[in-house]
Amino acid sequence: MISFKKVTKYYGNSKALQDINLEINHGEFISLVGLSGAGKSTLMKLLTREEDIDDGQILIDNIDISNIKKKDLPYLRRKIGMVFQDIKLLPKRTAFENVAFAMEVSGYTMDKIVVEVPKILELVGLIHKKNNFPHEMSGGEKQRIAIARSLSHRPVLLLADEPTGNLDEVNANEVIELLLKINKLGTTVVLATHAADIVNKIKKRVITIEGGKITF
Ligand code: ADP
Repeated sequence: MISFKKVTKYYGNSKALQDINLEINHGEFISLVGLSGAGKSTLMKLLTREEDIDDGQILIDNIDISNIKKKDLPYLRRKIGMVFQDIKLLPKRTAFENVAFAMEVSGYTMDKIVVEVPKILELVGLIHKKNNFPHEMSGGEKQRIAIARSLSHRPVLLLADEPTGNLDEVNANEVIELLLKINKLGTTVVLATHAADIVNKIKKRVITIEGGKITF
């Protein structure tokens, strides 16, 4: 599904990623581990083409995204969902409205939105919080709403960049369990984390990045 071929990314003169070769199959769950500054976020930003690929190629479903045209970026991004450490829900909107708003922006009709949002909230186990505002939810619940939002356009690939970074162990476990469930339902998941304990529990393929290189 995803193929990195000798991918290098520079920020100024320094290499944030160097000669990355990596194959990720459809339906895989990959944990990307490495210290802060290792290059995990940069790798994800290349997949969404938030950043340019300076050298090498990245293929997604055999499409080379290295030279993708600006007009084709929405097609690429429609395939991908993203969640971050920093959970940016709309504070004055309910859980339901947060997911609905993302769908509205993606161009879904109201008819579709009212049918789909409850299904997605059910999937993340928070249908009972649909009328709650972010300040009425725990950190883990907020992150699960953010995950629901990221799934609203039905991506085939979910990129989770330190999604448990601000959570305590209980909440972090809930988020990881949810990512595993989403993966089981068929979505490819790439999880970036510096937390080795989390990765050890997941028992899926692990890629280690150090100083912009894959070490094993
Ligand atoms: P990680 O996600 O593993 O913490 P990053 O991918 O954020 O690592 O960073 C990799 C390297 O690239 C670091 O040395 C970081 O300082 C540098 N870097 C990241 N983003 C930028 C940027 N926008 N401009 C300059 N340097 C950056």
